[in-house]
Order: sequence, then structure tokens, then C-alpha cells
Amino acid sequence: MRVLMIAPPGAGKGTQGALIAAHFGIPHIATGELLRDHVTRRTSLGLAVQEYLDRGELVPDQVVLDMVREAMVAAKAAGGGYVLDGIPRNMEQARAAYLIARELEMTADVALHLDADDAEVTRRLLARAALEHRSDDTADVIAGRLALYHQVTAPIICWYRDRGILVPVDAMRPAQQIGREILTALDGMRPLLDSQAARAWHPGDLATLAEAFGVTGPAAAPCG
Ligand code: ADP
Repeated sequence: MRVLMIAPPGAGKGTQGALIAAHFGIPHIATGELLRDHVTRRTSLGLAVQEYLDRGELVPDQVVLDMVREAMVAAKAAGGGYVLDGIPRNMEQARAAYLIARELEMTADVALHLDADDAEVTRRLLARAALEHRSDDTADVIAGRLALYHQVTAPIICWYRDRGILVPVDAMRPAQQIGREILTALDGMRPLLDSQAARAWHPGDLATLAEAFGVTGPAAAPCG
């Protein structure tokens, strides 16, 4: 199972990514976590990216792409599945991540779009701030991260819809309910993805994959 997640901050990528990874026994590649780990360990990469994280800005594409390539190579060695959490975040990253995955013969089967509105995710992030003290969970920085999401991340959702691998998820609900829905959808797709026929379609002509799975939903991405 190869899954990537597109979602605004606070929609639950981390929670659902961990759930999917545990359910399928695949690596959870979370770029924000990897970057924060570098910051905590005060590696040279961590020192270089700390200010971007504190300000809620995107770190340079190449930094994340190098990190993700390394993680994808490890994921390939571990069986080939993965959950990508936090990348891609703009069109350049979407293209580059696709090329890396194609080169490794492990392009995504499913792009989950966890959709939640700004008021709800802001409420969640401020609640989390009280518990976790992440440097970017302040009201100002949250507003900036959300604006950035709408500006450069949300437009890439259309691309996954065009590729036929988009699965929209209503992320306004409790985490447990969202998790159950995601696992049910992914479990339902598994036999088809595991079959030779599905692999033979891959990755070029997946245009009708979502329809083949009978995936319907609010499809609320701001495309066009
Ligand atoms: P959130 O989705 O709540 O913003 P993440 O943990 O995914 O949280 O990301 C935290 C921060 O890490 C981002 O604000 C950004 O600075 C950096 N980051 C994570 N992923 C990327 C990426 N793909 N490209 C650039 N910066 C990233």
C-alpha cells in the first residue's frame, strides 16, 4: 500500500498516517517529524531549517526531497509500501516526488485529501499548542501556515484527481471515525492494488481508478 496525504495543518495527517502505517505494516514518512528531529538533535540540517519551521515557512524543496528519497529507498528495501505525510506541499515537490517514486517503481496508489476548514484546524492546533509547545503552533504562525496551504498546497490536489488516485476524506469528524473510514477504504482497494492487473495499469493510466473503486465524496478541492 502506497499512500500520500494532502491536508492542511491540524487536519490529522500525523494521527491518520501513524494509523495507516501500523495497519499495513509500512513506514510512516513524516517530513515535519523528520525535520523537527534534526532540529532537536541540532544537526547541521536541523540548524539550517530551524528558522523556516519556527516561522511556518516551507524549507527549501531540495532539503525535503533529499530526505524523502532516502526514506523511500529504505521503504523499498522494507517491502515497498509507505505513507507519505507532509510532502508534497507544492507543485514542484509533487512533480519531483513523483519522479523519485517512478524511478524506484513505487508511485502512490492513493492520495488521501483530509479536508477540514480553517476554523476547525485552528481550534485543534491551538489546543495542541497548550500540550505540545511546538514553536509553530502560535495564532500568527498558524494563520500563515494555513494561508500557505491554500496558496501552494491545495492546488496540487487537482493533479491527483486527474491521475484518478484521489480519495477525499471529511476530516471535520472525530479522529477515530476518520481512521475507520480510511482503513475501510484502503482495505477495500487492497485486493485490486495487489493484483497483477492493477500493477499493469500502473502508473500511467490510473485515470479511472477512483471510479473503479466506487470512491465518491465531497471532492471539495479548490481546483481550476
Ligand atoms: P503541519 O502540517 O501541521 O504544518 P508538519 O509537521 O507537516 O506540520 O510540518 C511542519 C513544518 O515542517 C512546516 O511548516 C515546514 O516548515 C516544514 N515542512 C514539512 N514538510 C515540508 C515540505 N514537504 N516542504 C517544505 N517544508 C516542509
